[in-house]
Amino acid sequence: MSGRIDVLTIFPGYLAPLELSLVGKARRDGLLDIGVHDLRDWTSDRHRTVDDTPFGGGAGMVMRPDVWGDALDGVLVADSPSRTLLVPTPAGARMTQALAEELALLVSAGGQLVFACGRYEGIDARVTEHYSGREDVTVREISLGDYVLNGGEVAALVVIEAVARLLPGVIGNPESLVEESHGAAGLLEYPVYTKPPSWRGLDVPDVLLSGDHGRIRSWRRARAVERTALRRPDLITGQGSPQIRLARPVDA
Ligand code: SAM
Repeated sequence: MSGRIDVLTIFPGYLAPLELSLVGKARRDGLLDIGVHDLRDWTSDRHRTVDDTPFGGGAGMVMRPDVWGDALDGVLVADSPSRTLLVPTPAGARMTQALAEELALLVSAGGQLVFACGRYEGIDARVTEHYSGREDVTVREISLGDYVLNGGEVAALVVIEAVARLLPGVIGNPESLVEESHGAAGLLEYPVYTKPPSWRGLDVPDVLLSGDHGRIRSWRRARAVERTALRRPDLITGQGSPQIRLARPVDA
């Protein structure tokens, strides 16, 4: 059973990349259904207004809860096995591979993900409060990282791509998901090389040309451990991500 993903935004054109590459192909192959909706379709005034000034004063505009509520009610699929409302915000929990895996499981079980892409100073806080209080919807506020974007569209694209590539059939060779960075081994991936074996005075490590699969495996593992220790020691100590631990000690 294939699930569906819906995106609500005031800039549907921002989501055009979802027609391209592996995600576009997955949609055309019927592996994934994605709907992109213009939030302004749920406005009722002549100017199609989605925002207003903040109560309490201050700079910028805030997106109105009434428009968001009507839009979300219109897009949420009542008979879906699950409904997850994803709200991109710099105040959310950091996006991780573990979350991508969790969301991919929901989609492959036929569940629905709905992205609410904020703009301006964000969405009136009562929207997440309302849907968090509903038993039929799970709300996740997600941050891409500690910086501020202009809107949630790029965050939705990032999360959709991370999720879609984990769905069965989307990546041609599922083996390529096994040793990736942030995967089950909890390591960054080892460096990779292709032809030619020598380029601008730089040679591919001999072991990779040896045909000895045991040696290649140990070399790759050692490089993965080395890279992780150097670039992301938090992954090894587990401080950055509690579910990530080294599967076995460093190879010599
Ligand atoms: N005033 C908000 C704050 O300081 O938390 C920032 C609003 S931002 C200009 C507009 C929208 O961009 C947000 O509602 C959110 O949808 C999106 N956004 C900005 N930074 C983001 C991030 N790091 N991760 C996910 N979404 C982000």
